[in-house]
Amino acid sequence: MSTRPRVSNSLPPTAPATPALVTPMGWMHTARFLTTAAQLHHLPAMDTPEIAFVGRSNAGKSTCINTLTQKKQLAFASKKPGRTQHINLFALGKQGITDAVLADLPGYGYAAVAKMDKLRWQQVMANYLVSRENLTGIVMMCDPRHGLTELDDILLEVIRPRVEQGLKFLIILTKADKLTRAEQAKALSIARLQAGGGEVKLFSALKKQGVDEVAQLLWDWAHPAQAATADAAAAASTENASANDSEAEPEALDE
Ligand code: GDP
Repeated sequence: MSTRPRVSNSLPPTAPATPALVTPMGWMHTARFLTTAAQLHHLPAMDTPEIAFVGRSNAGKSTCINTLTQKKQLAFASKKPGRTQHINLFALGKQGITDAVLADLPGYGYAAVAKMDKLRWQQVMANYLVSRENLTGIVMMCDPRHGLTELDDILLEVIRPRVEQGLKFLIILTKADKLTRAEQAKALSIARLQAGGGEVKLFSALKKQGVDEVAQLLWDWAHPAQAATADAAAAASTENASANDSEAEPEALDE
């Protein structure tokens, strides 16, 4: 569980009624299909923060997106015949106002795809990750029983320069319910080494593990100013609490 206050609690009571108070989970539930594109230049140019979901086929990406958005079939749109090599965009935001976009990049490494198609797709994906201007963060799905694959490593190399420049990065370790607690802890520490400064979270769609935490993180990525305000408020309240503590029990001064 995140230790930071939830977004809905971080606003002062006098805050204006708009934008409507929204929890990260409520925000995720606003996801709706925006568009699909087979080529990079078919994607609409946008200035809204965009968060891309990538991962090896069968890593649990569709299930994760559907669990986060509570839209049963949303990400399975990417698996429909004819869309398996498309970038699918979903809009997020209350009252029909889009304040972030999720980009679902279909899974790579699927054995049944012809080699030429695979190469073409990998190129589209690499170009997207390197050049999409409004890309704010990347979420990589990984089944911790298999660890990061060769294709995951290649993708990490592709995005490394952008991550070093501040692009947000999260590895989600999916299907955590299939691991014991000890295995979970081990998978977490290995993935943290591989994440190159990015975040790592355990996730289980089955047990609803990690759902709130991931929603909170994505909300923070898409709303950096509000996230910073919430952090400052949390820090101030911690300071106040420790100031009160020291009033109650003054520290001995060294003479
Ligand atoms: P994708 O190809 O990456 O989109 O993967 P899917 O979302 O289709 O999931 C692949 C398989 O893993 C499916 O059989 C899912 O039911 C299963 N799966 C996904 N998430 C979980 C989870 O959290 N727990 C368990 N036990 N199985 C999961």
